[in-house]
Amino acid sequence: MVKLGTARIKKLALEWVSKYTTYMELPSSFELLGITIHINLTDERQDVWGEWDSESRTILINSKATKENQCITFMHELIHAIDDLLGLDLEHRDVYAVSQVLWAVLRNNPSINAWINTTLSKC
Ligand SMILES: [Zn+2]
Repeated sequence: MVKLGTARIKKLALEWVSKYTTYMELPSSFELLGITIHINLTDERQDVWGEWDSESRTILINSKATKENQCITFMHELIHAIDDLLGLDLEHRDVYAVSQVLWAVLRNNPSINAWINTTLSKC
C-alpha cells in the first residue's frame, strides 16, 4: 500500500478539479437594450482587466484573468455599457460600487441565481 502525503493528496485533488471541472464559456455576444453587445475575451491588453468600447459596442475581458475576475470584470463593464447607452453619466466610483455589489449578491446567493434561472426558463 502506498500512503499519500497531504501535499500529494492536495496536488491530486487540484489536478482532478482542473481536469473535471468545466466552465461554461463566456458567450461572444448578448443583447442589451435591443443592441448586440460583443464580448471579446483576449490577452491583447495586459494593462486592463476589461474595457467597454462604445464605438464597437464591445466588452473586452482579459483572458489572463482568473475566471472569477473575468466575471467581476464583465459585471463592471456591463454597468459601463448600461451607463453609456442610457446616457446616465455615472461617476466611475458609482460604476465600481454598483458592479461590486451586484456581483456580491449574485456570488453570495446561489439561490437567487437559481430562482432567476428557474423563473426565466418558465416565462
Ligand atoms: Zn471602469
